[in-house]
Amino acid sequence: MGRYDVIIIGGGISGLFSALILGKAGKRVLLLEKRESLGGNCNSYIVDGFQVDTGPHAITGLANGPIRQIIDEYLNYTPVFLDYGTYHLRTPDGIVRVPANITEFIGFDVIPRRDRLALSQAITKALTLSAFGIETTTQSVHDFLPKNLSTTTLAFVDAVCHFLSGKDMRKTSVHRVLAGSSFMSEPSGEKKNGSRLTEHVTDRISRLGRLATNKVSESQGYPRGGLKTLLNAVLYSMPPNVEIQTNQEVKRITTLDRVATGVETSEESFESSIVIHSGFAKELPEMVDELPPAYVSDLQRIDQTKSLTVWLGLTKEISEFNYIGSEIWFQEHPYWAMPISNYSQGIAPRGKQLIGFTFVMNEKRRLKSEKERAMDTITRAIPRIERFIEMEHYQTTTPEKAAVTIDGYIAENRTPIKNLYLVGTDADRRSMGITRAAYSTLHLIEEIKNDGHLDRRKE
Ligand SMILES: Cc1cc2nc3c(=O)[nH]c(=O)nc-3n(C[C@H](O)[C@H](O)[C@H](O)COP(=O)(O)OP(=O)(O)OC[C@H]3O[C@@H](n4cnc5c(N)ncnc54)[C@H](O)[C@@H]3O)c2cc1C
Repeated sequence: MGRYDVIIIGGGISGLFSALILGKAGKRVLLLEKRESLGGNCNSYIVDGFQVDTGPHAITGLANGPIRQIIDEYLNYTPVFLDYGTYHLRTPDGIVRVPANITEFIGFDVIPRRDRLALSQAITKALTLSAFGIETTTQSVHDFLPKNLSTTTLAFVDAVCHFLSGKDMRKTSVHRVLAGSSFMSEPSGEKKNGSRLTEHVTDRISRLGRLATNKVSESQGYPRGGLKTLLNAVLYSMPPNVEIQTNQEVKRITTLDRVATGVETSEESFESSIVIHSGFAKELPEMVDELPPAYVSDLQRIDQTKSLTVWLGLTKEISEFNYIGSEIWFQEHPYWAMPISNYSQGIAPRGKQLIGFTFVMNEKRRLKSEKERAMDTITRAIPRIERFIEMEHYQTTTPEKAAVTIDGYIAENRTPIKNLYLVGTDADRRSMGITRAAYSTLHLIEEIKNDGHLDRRKE
């Protein structure tokens, strides 16, 4: 079988993006995926005639973020992204738009007026601090909030934190909420010196000004045809020098004197100059010897959250989901939901509707009782829905390989083993989900170049 330039462990979106870019740079790449299908958390499949995604998804930063860069530079065709629409809150009286700027926020009567004023002052203060480079990544939302807020307001903030970081407001940083809700852009990762610092401050201040009047959300979209459309575009663009094998679980990463030499599955071994791990970084100590103990204990600090998604196929389109975008239920047991069949035809059979509801899972409880609790919440929020359910499908997943919390560890692309790299949502703290996976991939490619493995002119 010969020797490969690069072996990639895992065929989720970050492993595939990496294979695509390195393959197009002329490397001989082998990608090994343990499951039968590729895509990891980025895929769609059919259940009883409805096409469900691996969780409801909003793809962010499509105008000029890392996904845009990968699409423009490496994909052979551009998937079509439909405008994401609007974020809503589901209340007992129906749905209400989530405010997109401070002016809208002031009129947002889902929470008491006194709290709205206090919260808008807190947002402005957080943005001002961040504009001047003052660290907000280590400050928890809980500690930053004004005191004496009502329980409704605290429930609202807590629900937003859960959906942005997977954790409650004590573990979620102020930075995560500002960046995740698009009130602030992500840092570029470049050193802030000289004119870059001036640019950075000016950018943040102009965003602050815009907050008073304008919509500030970054471009977001949903791929026409479902999440698998993005996966298919990546697979279609893969050059022939990338070999992909599924049903191949990597058990060991082989090393010699702290240099990666290849990988082993239960039946075969493969040699390569570079190994890239896109599975869980926290599993690395079980796969590779020679890791320094301090690094192993850092990896043990990686925080994760499990989610439970309930897909409901409805016999008809109902008025409660007559919108494009998503909704949050922030009362007890919050969820995030998206009527994905409203985006394009074919996701649900004609005239029918498909909604995905995602909950943060309580791993101490049994799956069966978590499923029942989820259905109870859905029927409490939308009482009429029960009459129309014809398909029920559950998914339990880890949306991101590392939750961005104030004390959780996020790994670097480089590991202490030479030529062994990490990629994916536990190897970059910028943005969320697929965008975070894309940031991580682009940074990995930079590191591989810096280490002299990739000719800059070839990319
Ligand atoms: C409910 C839900 C909602 C989400 N919402 C959004 C959203 O709105 N917007 C957004 O951008 N993102 C969202 N995401 C997150 C996004 O889907 C993921 O962050 C992204 O797809 C992760 O990509 P990845 O490549 O880092 O990891 P993964 O998708 O986890 O891929 C890792 C792959 O490696 C394989 N693997 C692991 N170990 C081995 C091994 N030893 N040998 C071989 N193969 C191995 C796995 O089988 C898997 O295929 C959501 C996810 C979920 C579950």
